[in-house]
Amino acid sequence: MKEEEIESMRKVFNNLKKKIEPLSESPKIQALQKRVIDIRKDAIENNNELIAIAKESFKDNGIDCFYANDEMEAREILLDLINEEIESSNIDKNEVFIAKSKSNTLREINVSEFLEKHGMNIVETDLGDRILQLKKEDNNPVHPTGPASHLTLQDIANIVNESMDLDLNSVPREIMEAVREDVLKLLEKSYIGISGSNSIAAEDGAILMLHNEGNISIVQNKKLHIIVAGLDKLVPSLEDSVSIAKLETAYATGKPLTSYMNIVAGPSKTADIEKKLLKNMYGAEKVAVILLDNGRKEAIDECLWCIGCGNCIVSCPVYNIVGNEFGYSSYLGGRGVAMSKYLKDNKVSVGSGLYMCTLCGMCTENCPVLTPTYEIIESLRNTAQKEGLSREPHKKIRDNIKDKGSPY
Ligand code: SF4
Repeated sequence: MKEEEIESMRKVFNNLKKKIEPLSESPKIQALQKRVIDIRKDAIENNNELIAIAKESFKDNGIDCFYANDEMEAREILLDLINEEIESSNIDKNEVFIAKSKSNTLREINVSEFLEKHGMNIVETDLGDRILQLKKEDNNPVHPTGPASHLTLQDIANIVNESMDLDLNSVPREIMEAVREDVLKLLEKSYIGISGSNSIAAEDGAILMLHNEGNISIVQNKKLHIIVAGLDKLVPSLEDSVSIAKLETAYATGKPLTSYMNIVAGPSKTADIEKKLLKNMYGAEKVAVILLDNGRKEAIDECLWCIGCGNCIVSCPVYNIVGNEFGYSSYLGGRGVAMSKYLKDNKVSVGSGLYMCTLCGMCTENCPVLTPTYEIIESLRNTAQKEGLSREPHKKIRDNIKDKGSPY
């Protein structure tokens, strides 16, 4: 990231902090926090059981459920589902437009690059993500809910003008309206929506998704709606999902609620004509969920408690200096580095910043579920160095101690 981008990001983070801190101190949020900590710990401990329950509940609700061991399998399942839809709806293969919502899991499996290689057009529906998509280069997000927080108004105006061949002023509303009209026009031809999920209620067979823009309502109302979710998103009930969603919102935005909390528990249907069941009234005719392992089963429980609010990076001294170089894919900061070990391997985790962490513990202090990221990082450093993945200066210090009895 460029120095000026980091500067802009820091300004956004400072404003965010001022909103989150007072809300996090309210007794209501603290009570919610206690509840969510228990929910997350139990859910991760009982993940296998929840997977089995979710599969049954989805079946009862008419949702197709798939299990993907890794990202490659997830992409193949996704492609098969899309190709089936292309065939059944007689879509021109050169005119496939897919409405996509913001999702860490979709980024984890590189869905956009993959589907684009198969000739499809992916349209990001979240404004921040659409701006990054139009930017083309250096377009990794810097925060889970504010992906373009490092770009100034002028940067954004330039990106939009250049990519859409416009001459807009640097006026936020003008930019928003231009992007919205363009996205809606592209999606007139779209039959397929793909999204992630904030939480999945296993017993209810329901998927919860949070948003402010109203874009997920567009995605979920396409004829085919595919949801890709990590196994760690499973919790027992819808009440648990809503509790997590509320806490995540408070720690991500400093607001008690997002504008929308969509819950999908089946395809669109009606029985208003002689009680005959008809599918596809306004929403999706087919809903499919892909539950993704991709290393999660190997991860230590603590690493999976995360509810994805992003508050750890807001307070992280390393992230505030180097930005999204500290993290992996859209899993940002120390917790992202830790996740990268399980999603990939020790080498990737070293490349994502395993040795950048200061072990100060600010992330844990500011984490609503008290993820002990610095402890996880410390233990991953142990395993990484056993694989010979130490830093050169560290090796030198070790050799000096061995040879000379002194680090110098
Ligand atoms: S580790 Fe904690 S603070 Fe960081 S994103 Fe996850 S829940 Fe939020």
